[in-house]
Amino acid sequence: MTNQPIDRSRDLFERAGRVTPGGVNSPVRAFGAVGGTPRFIDRARGAALIDVDGNEYVDLIGSWGPMILGHAHPEVLDAVRTAAAKGFSFGTPSENEVLLAEAIVDRVDPVDEVRLVSSGTEATMSAIRLARGFTGRPVVVKFAGCYHGHVDALLAAAGSGVATFSLPDTPGVTGASAADTLVLPYNDQEALRSAFAEHGDRIACVITEACPGNMGVVPPRDGFTRLIRSLTHQHAALMISDEVMTGFRVSPSGWYGWELEREGYPDGPADLFTFGKVMGGGFPAAAFGGRREVMAQLAPSGPVYQAGTLSGNPVATAAGLATLRLTTELDVYSAIETAADRLRPEVTAALSAAGVPHVIQSANSMFSVFFTDREAVVDYEDARSQDTAAYAAFFTAMLEQGVHLPPSAFEVWFLSLAHTDEVLDRIVAALPRAAAAAASAMAGSAGDRTTG
Ligand SMILES: *Cc1c(COP(=O)(O)O)cnc(C)c1O
Repeated sequence: MTNQPIDRSRDLFERAGRVTPGGVNSPVRAFGAVGGTPRFIDRARGAALIDVDGNEYVDLIGSWGPMILGHAHPEVLDAVRTAAAKGFSFGTPSENEVLLAEAIVDRVDPVDEVRLVSSGTEATMSAIRLARGFTGRPVVVKFAGCYHGHVDALLAAAGSGVATFSLPDTPGVTGASAADTLVLPYNDQEALRSAFAEHGDRIACVITEACPGNMGVVPPRDGFTRLIRSLTHQHAALMISDEVMTGFRVSPSGWYGWELEREGYPDGPADLFTFGKVMGGGFPAAAFGGRREVMAQLAPSGPVYQAGTLSGNPVATAAGLATLRLTTELDVYSAIETAADRLRPEVTAALSAAGVPHVIQSANSMFSVFFTDREAVVDYEDARSQDTAAYAAFFTAMLEQGVHLPPSAFEVWFLSLAHTDEVLDRIVAALPRAAAAAASAMAGSAGDRTTG
């Protein structure tokens, strides 16, 4: 498998580079962090990606989260076909929007009302606008390494693409929008307390990933989420739980439901939630929602403006609805947990056998592998200290054996209903060689080091 023909991908990447910045429409796809030629995918079915040269890969990207049922699930495909046959976009209210909103409200108890949008970025952008409008305050608190889309005010020290390219910030975000954003280290209770002590009456909201997954999986430590909740209550600020990645993935009701089961919400749940990825089933659909009192501030019932030509698109909402229905009907959650439970120890065994230090962290079935000798990764600084060169070598060796991991060390390995035992076997078979590649990359980088 090491001699995959990739001529057509190479050719397309070259042509793309002439008409699109970096040849891609989202930075991480360019393979900048891992090297090599990104594969141009022609089609996908179940857990398989097939590129334009005809190579087949086991997919562990899952479109970065949405494809929880696997690619082109027949029942979702049917729903999409049926919806598309009735027209693509009306710019008027339609039934699917009501059904999808009801499905979300049914599943996530603290969400009384939702507004549908087209991307996770739009959801978080609108949620912080609403929080600022509701409270009449300017400051947004976020945590380093949490990614909430490419919203100006939230792009300070973000994870995901920005982490991958190690940019501390980005040009194009003005001092003014950054000045109203406080970036704190994740899991740092002291930093949170002093931020509120100092700026409490100016803080509109704290936005956090329900369980961070964009710097790799970094679960909240005991009491951290509760402290966010109690401090926001105390200071009449809002708490926004960003479930764009975790929503409808880690449980039928996302991180909210999973945490509820384990520890409850003695200080109350978040005021606002954001969703995306799984709820769009691979189409552009996302949402933000929460308490009725807060959501009522949104136009047209309230003064905070927000709108969208394609919001609640009938085809996207059909895909989302079908996906949400099937997640519970098919008991997707326990299937994916079983798959994750099988894969994690295999990864550890292969890496350990090759002497590659690493730690695997999980949010239920969602997990990521850090190439680090730390015992645990609790914040962005920890996450960034991992050996990205070792990951790059590991990634490339997996790809050459027909397993497509996310092309960045800071990402979740996304599983789906389609990751059956047979599919997992293919991943497991590829691990030893990839682990060996990671081990030599480590040795290589150690040799490259000058002093200290
Ligand atoms: C993916 C993601 C976003 C952004 O969603 P897009 O649809 O890519 O704009 C926001 N927040 C979290 C937690 C995400 O994982």
